[in-house]
Amino acid sequence: MATVTLDNLRKEFDNGRIVAVDDVSLDVEDGEFVTVVGPSGCGKSTTLRMLAGLESPTSGTIEIDGEDVTDVHARRRDVAMVFQNYALYPHKTVRQNMAFGLRMSTDLSKDEREERVRETAEMMDIEELLDDRPDELSGGQKQRVALGRAIVREPDVFLFDEPLSNLDAKLRTTMRTEIQRLQNELGITAIYVTHDQEEAMTMGDRIAILNDGVLQQTGAPKEVYRNPRNEFVGGFVGSPSMNFLDVAVAGDGGRVALTNDDGFEYELTGEAARAVSETGVTEARLGIRPENVTVTDGEDGLLATVEVVEPVGSDNYLHLDLGPDFIARVDSHVEPSNGDAIRVTFDQRDVTLFDAASGESLLWEEPTERKKATA
Ligand code: ATP
Repeated sequence: MATVTLDNLRKEFDNGRIVAVDDVSLDVEDGEFVTVVGPSGCGKSTTLRMLAGLESPTSGTIEIDGEDVTDVHARRRDVAMVFQNYALYPHKTVRQNMAFGLRMSTDLSKDEREERVRETAEMMDIEELLDDRPDELSGGQKQRVALGRAIVREPDVFLFDEPLSNLDAKLRTTMRTEIQRLQNELGITAIYVTHDQEEAMTMGDRIAILNDGVLQQTGAPKEVYRNPRNEFVGGFVGSPSMNFLDVAVAGDGGRVALTNDDGFEYELTGEAARAVSETGVTEARLGIRPENVTVTDGEDGLLATVEVVEPVGSDNYLHLDLGPDFIARVDSHVEPSNGDAIRVTFDQRDVTLFDAASGESLLWEEPTERKKATA
């Protein structure tokens, strides 16, 4: 078990023409499960590869359990990495694949290695596959073996690079739970890279969002969802995505009017109004999540036309003409027809506002409490 600290970690390629990882700093607690998420090319894999020792940083440091390992060879770091493509040796049996890493990284005797492999295979429910070769296994079985091979080494830190991307949706869900269970039981610090925000949100104690090599925000999934630091984070986490509307901001401390040329009008009051007017920003983007847009029977609220009703079983997604791709996620019993005029409202507590120029949230609050690792 170990803490992991990245301090201003930077990786440039092509003589500095590509900055894959741009001065990322991150503290991972002992036993914590941190998911690193972001769009393709944002630097997730490069960060993880530096942690594993497969890539050297251009600058910055990596500490594992307080020890600076920035220049320590991959083989001498007590980390185990699980890859998307399994990376099993094709000519070795499952047993040999699992034992090989142990032989390289420990001085256990042959008998001890065999015992550890057997125990881990039992834990992973792959005992009956021990004499098979990788090409005889399904994708799911290969990934279990790859996980088993990582676990058998009893590393200080688990690194996962999109380990479930090659599996079908159902198996992916099963394996997510399994990885979480194992990580929890073993209490091993884990850093898990994925481009899938849902996976990141459901698996992580904490989620770290990267864009263009820059760390945008870290926090408990719920906190990041409710309190995004900038427009990128607001739009990246959550499905369907947060709705955005361009608005002009006007007013003094007590009341702030948000309006636009399409007839949108909304008034902020109280603390939020004060916070926004203090920034002096006059052009903003309002963000509201689809599930926080409520259809009302009353005369109040915003008038909107239903463009399309998209049923998804439990809910209906109402596409409204309030803005581009503006969706209200409502109960499946709320069933207007296409072309209907409806009224919608939303609670001020669910509204976020971003500076139109910088994208930074005007309502972001420093979280008071950081979620501790449970292990
Ligand atoms: P994906 O989800 O697509 O794997 P990622 O977030 O893991 O993306 P990285 O693979 O870390 O992103 O790549 C970050 C950036 O660095 C990209 O622009 C990529 O093209 C570039 N890059 C990565 N490795 C190299 C390399 N060896 N040489 C040059 N550029 C590289």
